[in-house]
Amino acid sequence: MIAPDLPTAVARLRELVEEAAVAVAFTGAGISTECGIPDFRSPGGIWTKMRPIEFGDFLASQEMRNESWRRRFVMEEQFGGAQPGRGHRALASLYRAGKIPAVITQNIDNLHQASGISAEHVVELHGNTTYASCLGCGKHYELRWVRERFTASGGRSPDCPDCGGHIKTATVSFGQAMPEAAMRRAQELTESCDLFLAIGSSLVVWPAAGFPLTAKRNGARLVIINRDATEFDDIADLVVHDDIGAALSPFIAH
Ligand SMILES: [Zn+2]
Repeated sequence: MIAPDLPTAVARLRELVEEAAVAVAFTGAGISTECGIPDFRSPGGIWTKMRPIEFGDFLASQEMRNESWRRRFVMEEQFGGAQPGRGHRALASLYRAGKIPAVITQNIDNLHQASGISAEHVVELHGNTTYASCLGCGKHYELRWVRERFTASGGRSPDCPDCGGHIKTATVSFGQAMPEAAMRRAQELTESCDLFLAIGSSLVVWPAAGFPLTAKRNGARLVIINRDATEFDDIADLVVHDDIGAALSPFIAH
């Protein structure tokens, strides 16, 4: 059913959450837009104006690695101070209440962790842009560490002092393999829940598109909260086309 108005949506969502034993949330860019982070893939988004750097190009070219970090530090100035929104805080409340064991996310902004969900319970399908890692040995690097060397060298992307590997934000780039462990956990969570909450994702891009179907096939109820219609609206138990923050703020525990 598509909720006819916000109060109906909230009331029905409350019932579904109360009836669920294990709810899993799956989030996309829409949950972070109220935090000032734009949806890069949306029409008019950054990636329709500036071509993303593919993983192969990053590996092949020092200039591409430099450009990749240049762009990252520009983003840091624009979005580095973003704080969790109402949707993040509501999910964190349900997590603390023991209703949601984990959140699966397409987002790379670290805002679920910032809202209080333990990092081990945030399953990141596209990685995380708030730190870096070495592609050779996997060592973690803070952005500040990268920036100091980037600036001191006049804009050159640094390599790992330990192994000489390239250092990249811990994100999954276009052309880069999906993280296997995260994909496996996302699949297991989806199969084990009895309520699947798809929030702020258009559910078009693989693998996002597969999860709602998997959840439904396993007998879970499906809720879709998204500004625009998705192709799974027909099979959902509840569809909310309202603002995500407004729909979820009643679930924030104070
Ligand atoms: Zn290394």
